[in-house]
Amino acid sequence: MIVFYDPGHSVHNPEREYTSGGPIPYPECADRAHGIGAALKEAGFTLQPPPPCAPEALRTVHDGDYLDFLSAVYSNQHPHSAELVPTTFALRGGRRPPCRRAQAGYYGFDTTPLTPGTCSAARASASSALAGAGALADGAPAAYALCRPPGHHAGRDYFGGYCYLNNAALAAAHLATGARVALIDIDYHHGNGTQDIFYESAEVFFVSLHADPSYQYPLFWGYADERGTGAGEGLNRNFPLPPGTGDDTYLAALDQALALIADFDPAYLVVSAGLDIYGADPLGDWDITQAGITRVGARIAAAGRPTLLVQEGGYNLAALGANTRRLLEPLATG
Ligand SMILES: [Zn+2]
Repeated sequence: MIVFYDPGHSVHNPEREYTSGGPIPYPECADRAHGIGAALKEAGFTLQPPPPCAPEALRTVHDGDYLDFLSAVYSNQHPHSAELVPTTFALRGGRRPPCRRAQAGYYGFDTTPLTPGTCSAARASASSALAGAGALADGAPAAYALCRPPGHHAGRDYFGGYCYLNNAALAAAHLATGARVALIDIDYHHGNGTQDIFYESAEVFFVSLHADPSYQYPLFWGYADERGTGAGEGLNRNFPLPPGTGDDTYLAALDQALALIADFDPAYLVVSAGLDIYGADPLGDWDITQAGITRVGARIAAAGRPTLLVQEGGYNLAALGANTRRLLEPLATG
């Protein structure tokens, strides 16, 4: 299996996250990717740096003004200047202010911070996903993009939930030129940005299994009756799952999701691979075991499509590398 990884993500390392219970050390840290990379190397995978993606490639999914904001917000700042945390939000009824720093609350939907390294790290992450899509288009049966920062909460013109550019959506859009693509999101949290991007798309079928948003982030999206609109009517499916979800409940929902994907008959499968489904993840409250993660990988491999896995969440640093390896191995050997 081809693995793409750009170590350039390390320049994005916010210090803290502002939660309703107060500030905590930022869970989406560079050591996440370092741990995954080390575990995969130990298992015999080779990590390849992706070619830097062309700026135009990002515009297939993202709004030009939003991309300009990401690249310009720190342009006149000292490289070690402080993190920018949006605290006043537009709710999109108001005007976009001219001040770049004030625009953080226009383009952000939560207190996810921006740092001087955020834009280049997000581009590096997107480059891995796009290189993975390119590998599939060239005939590879499977590829994995070790992306950081993650992407599935980022929409066409907004960031949040640790995400700035939607890596999986960029990959799916790349593959969807002339082919049908299914994008399954197995992260513990709903992929609200991805859903939003493809909500009217007839080419990309989006399916997400996640913690019920009635009690868990991102709260406002991810309900079962969100089914797509226009040309995308029926091509958005959500499986909200309860606290304490274990292997059997999760795998039963996954089987339903994969049956829908088989009916859609895509040429390619993209997986938003979040490992915060794991029972010991500090951000989740499920009961999925490490053996369960291997079974998830085996189910995805059995779907029998050229498959790109794109890293999303997963915050148990002691287990993340091994869990990623467990997810990938059925696809690497099948
Ligand atoms: Zn997550």
